[in-house]
Amino acid sequence: MKRNIRTLVKYLLLSSVTVVFTVLFYRIFKSKDFRYTDVQFGAKYGGVEPVAPQNVLAFDNEKIDWHDYDQIKQESMRTGPGEQGKAAYLNQAENHNYDALYKVNGFNAALSDKIAVDRAVPDIRHKGCKSKKYLKNLPSVSVIVPFHNEHWTTLLRTATSVVNRSPPHLLKEVILVDDFSSKEFSRKPLDDYLAANLTKVRALHLPERSGLIRARLAGAREATAEVLIFLDSHTEANVNWLPPLLEPIAQDYKTCVCPFIDVVQYETFEYRAQDEGARGAFDWEFFYKRLPLLPEDLKHPTEPFKSPIMAGGLFAISTKFFWELDGYDEGLDIWGGEQYELSFKIWQCGGQMYDAPCSRVGHIYRKYAPFPNPGKGDFVGRNYRRVAEVWMDEYAEYLYMRRPHYRNLDTGDLTKQKGLRDRLQCKPFKWFMKNVAFDLPLKYPPIEPGDFGVGEIRNLGAPELCVDSGFKDKDQIVGLKECVSDNKQRGEQNFTLTWHKDLRVKGKSMCFDVSDPNEKADVVLYPCHGMKGNQYWRYDVEKQWFLHGGNPRCLDCDPGQKRLYVKSCDEHSKTQKWRFENVNLTMIADWENIGVQE
Ligand code: UDP
Ligand code: MN
Repeated sequence: MKRNIRTLVKYLLLSSVTVVFTVLFYRIFKSKDFRYTDVQFGAKYGGVEPVAPQNVLAFDNEKIDWHDYDQIKQESMRTGPGEQGKAAYLNQAENHNYDALYKVNGFNAALSDKIAVDRAVPDIRHKGCKSKKYLKNLPSVSVIVPFHNEHWTTLLRTATSVVNRSPPHLLKEVILVDDFSSKEFSRKPLDDYLAANLTKVRALHLPERSGLIRARLAGAREATAEVLIFLDSHTEANVNWLPPLLEPIAQDYKTCVCPFIDVVQYETFEYRAQDEGARGAFDWEFFYKRLPLLPEDLKHPTEPFKSPIMAGGLFAISTKFFWELDGYDEGLDIWGGEQYELSFKIWQCGGQMYDAPCSRVGHIYRKYAPFPNPGKGDFVGRNYRRVAEVWMDEYAEYLYMRRPHYRNLDTGDLTKQKGLRDRLQCKPFKWFMKNVAFDLPLKYPPIEPGDFGVGEIRNLGAPELCVDSGFKDKDQIVGLKECVSDNKQRGEQNFTLTWHKDLRVKGKSMCFDVSDPNEKADVVLYPCHGMKGNQYWRYDVEKQWFLHGGNPRCLDCDPGQKRLYVKSCDEHSKTQKWRFENVNLTMIADWENIGVQE
């Protein structure tokens, strides 16, 4: 018995020592591995078949506060033009090159020269971000910034903000990819400046104009860190921008993370928020659009949320995953469509994409594009068609329906892209639409539904009176007039209840809008926004009511004064009943499944 116990104790001791040593060994090995090696994910996780990094990191999920409080304090004391992201102005004496520089940049570049390249920007993150901790072990980063004729100080401000606001041991290098710029400083003066002031930053000069897509690829090929971060050449990284971008990638390398993009105002360089987040999307002409956050996302305002489509210019992706996806399609010319290509690939080929609210980067949205068209015909159309042909399956048709000339554009060879899709066994576009961009068709239907109803709106309490958009005073209040029987003069008495669930003057983008919460509220005409709310209308065929808003009130009128208003609904009221000339009963019956939801 005693011997048995002794054996057991010995055994227990031995095994716990083994466990302790294994864990210790693993920690030392891995933290070293993560921080100091150039080896990329593939080799690091041993061989061809990658082990998902989240399994590895589960051993070491210690989190730390990454804020550099000394730097935050120093920056908070800075004063001068544009400091703290405040709007700045040129005085008379500084104004002489305002026009000349505006013309070639599309923003107030003369003012940029007056603002320090290391100016402080305001910390406008959600306050929860300030106490958020991130994994202690994060992968290393190469920042890639393509530029074509970027203005001197905006380019340097980009590089400086990245260097200053990134933990030095995470930032391996910044590569400025000079896409054959013709401005004088772009070559030697730039190289000299970087060598003297920003040793982690170097310029890669391309021998010919390659366009932003191939310029990003050229930078990525030179990059040696574990994560690639792409930025535009007129951006400013904000406080603690890096850890929120890197953590989701450390947890799963098949992840792309985008920062929130703030606005650096093109005239004053004021730094402000664009909004507090939305999910990226597109319409069927391939205009970039945004979808609202999901209820789940709203509950966790500092957590990364899934986004179907990236805005395009600013994102982080693991080097390994980027190259598994073959980077960008090199057949995409100059710019346009690449954000769709990469987003589709990421989602359809087993990855995921997030927006990280606690990472913010300012971007100058130009007033206008100053660069001449490169004289290559409809290169954007060709790019779109390449992306559609390879990734969108039967959904490509919806694009071609709206832009029939795409069908005749020569896309060039797509063998390589289609081969990649086969090789990685990427999912069909239908899967993407059903699982990732599931709410896109409600806002941007592939085939636009018709109208729920159209024509004259006649009151049943006073059957000689019709709603008339011409009866409006200077506040654009809609009223009533004698119904016009002559079809040709119907312009002011012709309305559509569209699939956006708004009530429009037919053929115009002017909507019936009620914002007044009082008992009797006027109906005014306002440019349509397609976002329900004040412009949300429904027609109840049985009761003959026009219902307004989420907490519905009924369209009503005072026939004597020919006034129109909304009021709480009353089953017995005759003036609340309206005959809507033509209604599509089938569509109204399917109300819930068409357009925006209540
Ligand atoms: N760019 C480039 N080559 C080009 C066009 C653009 O390197 O042929 C760079 C440009 O300098 C910027 C980025 O690509 O850093 C995105 O272009 P831009 O900012 O003009 O696009 P926007 O933000 O206005 O959509
Ligand atoms: Mn830009």
